[in-house]
Amino acid sequence: MHIDLLDHLRCPADHAECWLVAAIERMADRHVERGTLGCPVCRRSYEIQDFAACFATPAETVENRAHPTPDEVTRLAAMLDLRVPGGFVGLHREWAPYAIPLAFSFDVHCVVLDDRRSIRPAEGVSLLIVDTALPLARGVLRGIALGIGAPQHAVHRALRPGGRVVGAAGLDVPAGIALMARDVRSWVGERLPDATPVVSLARPR
Ligand SMILES: [Zn+2]
Repeated sequence: MHIDLLDHLRCPADHAECWLVAAIERMADRHVERGTLGCPVCRRSYEIQDFAACFATPAETVENRAHPTPDEVTRLAAMLDLRVPGGFVGLHREWAPYAIPLAFSFDVHCVVLDDRRSIRPAEGVSLLIVDTALPLARGVLRGIALGIGAPQHAVHRALRPGGRVVGAAGLDVPAGIALMARDVRSWVGERLPDATPVVSLARPR
């Protein structure tokens, strides 16, 4: 996991959003190879092992995931609107093989959210082992591609306003996401802005 991602991680437990305290044991360049993340609110701790932050126990099963063609990488980049470099992009489960080509070609930081060690963290790629949580700060992602079993409820919170969401055709569009386009393979949506709180106006006396 890249050191720059540390500030944007949040405890996935059911309490108010809280940052995590990192105890780093070993680094390799700018990547944390081993360490612990502790939550000051609920006292849970999460291990960083072999460059992956583990918010769940990694699944053992190996899934055969095809590597995307250059056209498929470009298609995903277009749907996620990656014309401008920089920022964090979430890639959930079956989208993990897109991480390295996307990071390399479009200069974004890909945060792979998976339940297994599907990818070796590389330059511009971090791996978070998760089950149904999205342990990221509010609004940190500029876009996310959702796989099967995606944490639908957390997508709106983790995306910045206007951020893109891509999902396979069979997936539901999460709440708070406006559908932009859909074909037989996938759909793309955009995060709606937060509702502006009603301001009560006091009449001057
Ligand atoms: Zn906590």
